[in-house]
Amino acid sequence: MKKYKPGVLFGKELEALYKDAKDNQFALPAVNTIGTDTINAVLETAAKGMPNDKLQGNITGGVSGALHIHNVAKYYGVPVVLHTDHAAKKWLPWISGLLDAGEQFFKEKGQPLFSSHMLDLSEEPIEENIHTSVEFFKRMKPLGMAIEIELGVTGGEEDGVDNSGVENDKLYTQPQHVAYAYTELSKVGTLFSVAAAFGNVHGVYSPGNVELRPVILKNSQDYIEKELKTGPKPVYFVFHGGSGSPQHQIREAIGYGAIKMNIDTDLQWSFWEGVLGYYKKNEAYLQGQLGNPEGAEKPNKKYYDPRVWLRKGEETFIKRLEVAFEDLNCINRNA
Ligand SMILES: [Zn+2]
Repeated sequence: MKKYKPGVLFGKELEALYKDAKDNQFALPAVNTIGTDTINAVLETAAKGMPNDKLQGNITGGVSGALHIHNVAKYYGVPVVLHTDHAAKKWLPWISGLLDAGEQFFKEKGQPLFSSHMLDLSEEPIEENIHTSVEFFKRMKPLGMAIEIELGVTGGEEDGVDNSGVENDKLYTQPQHVAYAYTELSKVGTLFSVAAAFGNVHGVYSPGNVELRPVILKNSQDYIEKELKTGPKPVYFVFHGGSGSPQHQIREAIGYGAIKMNIDTDLQWSFWEGVLGYYKKNEAYLQGQLGNPEGAEKPNKKYYDPRVWLRKGEETFIKRLEVAFEDLNCINRNA
């Protein structure tokens, strides 16, 4: 039995802690937290880590991030599509956990916690991929959520999934597979999108490794329009592995019905680039807590304050993301 319960203390328990500290001669470290990284680090220090045997860390972390966005987006005055990416088969319990939280949130607020989740079952047989996706979609639809699925294999390597050795024909999605997915998902609802492989890769590599062929998307759209007698461009496509792609190919993919593009790798670099530039510019002030070109005893606190250099990362991140908005022809679309 612990003396104090988990969570934020107040009232009688808070006073008992103060008294405990004074009577027993200990004191609490007060930490200036500046974001979830330092908040989590403080909690981890006190707890010696958090159990994650049922993915509870991943689930609560996802929920917490989503709640933060719900809390602040309205103050920025911008609409947000809140999405989780690439849940392979072993991550399905994570999506189930997020949906448990999402259903609870829906009961309280009348809207889902997330706009959409992606299931990436592209490593499984196509029947299993589509069957499982349909089952999850049935659960998401009443919440007003969208589902994203993956057909074919996005090349390259991301988050420990290495597809850099996959044969080339799997890197280009077959129109028949898209038609099959379209037919089955349409039985549940219309709010689904397909991450199709058209030579796109996760990560940035030197040119010439794989050939990007956006026309694959057009072939699928035309095939479904003809075979299933739909209107033109029936499918919402998602462009994975957009980092490093030239604008003309991005625009071409948009022309064939790509409505979203993932640009993780370039944004990772852009954040680091700001920190790197800051370090290089102020290197002589960042070698110790005391001592810089102005004197051996001069303090450097205002240079190594994480709020200062993390902000530099945010600034270059924003610049790169503005380029993406331009590449995606997505400027002034909310007027
Ligand atoms: Zn992806």
